[in-house]
Amino acid sequence: MGLLLLLLLSCVTGSDLENILYVSQQKPTEAFAIGKPKRKAEWETKPKVRVCASTKLMMSRVDAAVRYWQRLGYEFNYVYKDFIIDCMNPRYGEIIITLPEGGFAPHHMAATRLYTSNRTGKIVMAKIFILPKNGRKERVLEHEFGHALGWSHYNKKFHIMYPNWQGGGYDHTGLRND
Ligand SMILES: [Zn+2]
Repeated sequence: MGLLLLLLLSCVTGSDLENILYVSQQKPTEAFAIGKPKRKAEWETKPKVRVCASTKLMMSRVDAAVRYWQRLGYEFNYVYKDFIIDCMNPRYGEIIITLPEGGFAPHHMAATRLYTSNRTGKIVMAKIFILPKNGRKERVLEHEFGHALGWSHYNKKFHIMYPNWQGGGYDHTGLRND
């Protein structure tokens, strides 16, 4: 079992890809959305969602965000709260929601880091960073789950993947998983 885990970890690209940030400040963005929303990768498995108790998130808020994506055709394994103190490292097959690491600027509301497999190119883990005060705000978790599912920012006003919070909304054009 220990050996198997080692093999799995070796095909995960380290602290991978980028931090996709959700900012609260209005930044100039293009007036029109160009093309369709883009997805970096799909999941290798049905993700589990681990919510670190340190984030003080209401499970009802997390469930609402999960349901938003389920209605769009995405499947999740299960959602649970973890009370361990060092709840910060995602395991294979998991979307973990945890507190931000150092150097997190105040105008950043949340961020998501994706980990993909070198072998398959698919997503194997995701880490959502969020502060308790932002976790209570509407749409923030829905937006970060979008990143955790592989979606990039999309410059269409009122779209869930719009890059900043003020201009965003619940529009999910182009995101259906059929
Ligand atoms: Zn974002």
